[in-house]
Amino acid sequence: MNSQQLFRRSRTRLALWYAGVMAMILSLSGLGIYRALIQSNWAALEREIESIAGTLHDSLEPMLPPSVDPTVVLQQIFPDLCVAGQVCAPQSTVIQRHTIGISDRSSYYIRLFNHHGDLLAFSPNQPLPLPQTVNPTLWQTLQSDSGTRYRQFTTILHSADAHPTSTNGHDHPSWGYMQIGRTLAPFDAEVERIQWVLAIGLPLALALVGASSWWLSGLAMQPIYRSYQRQQQFTADAAHELRSPLASLLATVEAILRLPPAQQQNVPPMLQTVERQGRRLSHLVTDLLLLTSLEQNASPQSFKPCCLNDLIADLTEELSELASASDIHLVRHLLNNEIYVLGHESQLYRLVSNLIANAIQYTSPGGSVLVSLDARDRMAIIAVKDTGIGISLTEQSRIFERFYRVDGDRSRKTGGTGLGLAIAKAIAKSHGGQLTVASQLGEGSVFTLRLATISH
Ligand code: ADP
Repeated sequence: MNSQQLFRRSRTRLALWYAGVMAMILSLSGLGIYRALIQSNWAALEREIESIAGTLHDSLEPMLPPSVDPTVVLQQIFPDLCVAGQVCAPQSTVIQRHTIGISDRSSYYIRLFNHHGDLLAFSPNQPLPLPQTVNPTLWQTLQSDSGTRYRQFTTILHSADAHPTSTNGHDHPSWGYMQIGRTLAPFDAEVERIQWVLAIGLPLALALVGASSWWLSGLAMQPIYRSYQRQQQFTADAAHELRSPLASLLATVEAILRLPPAQQQNVPPMLQTVERQGRRLSHLVTDLLLLTSLEQNASPQSFKPCCLNDLIADLTEELSELASASDIHLVRHLLNNEIYVLGHESQLYRLVSNLIANAIQYTSPGGSVLVSLDARDRMAIIAVKDTGIGISLTEQSRIFERFYRVDGDRSRKTGGTGLGLAIAKAIAKSHGGQLTVASQLGEGSVFTLRLATISH
């Protein structure tokens, strides 16, 4: 599988996981909201029925006749109720008068039963078919022939006389029953509406989640993909850099092996070439390993206080020979008080030596290199300033890249690997510092390193 396929597959997998988790969360929340809405609507509906039943119950009870056949009195109390067993002409129901303020009054019906549970009277808009005897269950849900559902509440009625006595001499604790029912059509319509909203909204939301998870997974994969590409480029560049000295080394060795015995005096200079190439290879491999280890494990735990004054003094001393060999005036400018930073002494040494060696390397004979150490706002500032060839603005942004050389041939001839500044930058970064360049072509360059100081 090539890298493109691998990244595409990882992206798809990431997007699917993300979409799956989001879909689950959305579905669960949708279901939760749906249930909460239904329950609150249902509770409000039952409260409304109960409150109407309570009002009717309280206003009816004082008027209830004690007679066992109360139809005549009932007709006087509720002239608009139909009496069981008689022809009923629909007219406005009693309940309409007791439900003032309720928007849909025709949605209620009332039924009255005697204490035996036989139907006495009912409002003409009661659904069909309903039994002629009472079912004393407190709450019931019924369905009419037309399919409309009703919620019905049953309550016991007591007459004004607390213990009315029937004609046959038996005591009855209650007068009868009252049933209040309400159509569930608006509730069912609301439920259907919510279901529709969910049925359309949820797949739409899921489609959006799917699209956004694809886009987000693409965003998430981008830095990984870029880092992978950089790594691949680095491997290719490293192989390319290793190939040339290796090829020339092998060619020299082959030439030595083929040398006729008469020309053995040529062997020592050829071996010197081999040694030079070997050193170059070893140098390159060391640099590569250092760069990799710097990027993998920057360990501030192992940092120790380092005196920058000593470090610069040692380095300028060491490189003064190289400078004078190139006819370059190497000067250092240090503060009297010592400046300490936390770090890896050998790595900081490598960093600054790289900067000074470069300054010497890219300055023409007769030029000068100034190494200065300053401290400002708890920052140590090391500046390496030369009067060399300078770096153009476009090159300045690239010189810290691995293997990048402004003038490849010249750099190679001077033994440069193109890794020096990349290593310097990585060391500065691992020390929490900053390495910058300011330069003008033909005028010279200044490399500035800023590191946080510590009091010692
Ligand atoms: P090299 O090992 O080839 O010197 P570096 O990473 O140290 O590689 O530097 C990268 C490039 O930056 C060099 O090829 C060189 O062209 C340029 N460079 C670095 N330092 C200076 C300098 N002081 N003056 C001019 N050019 C420089």
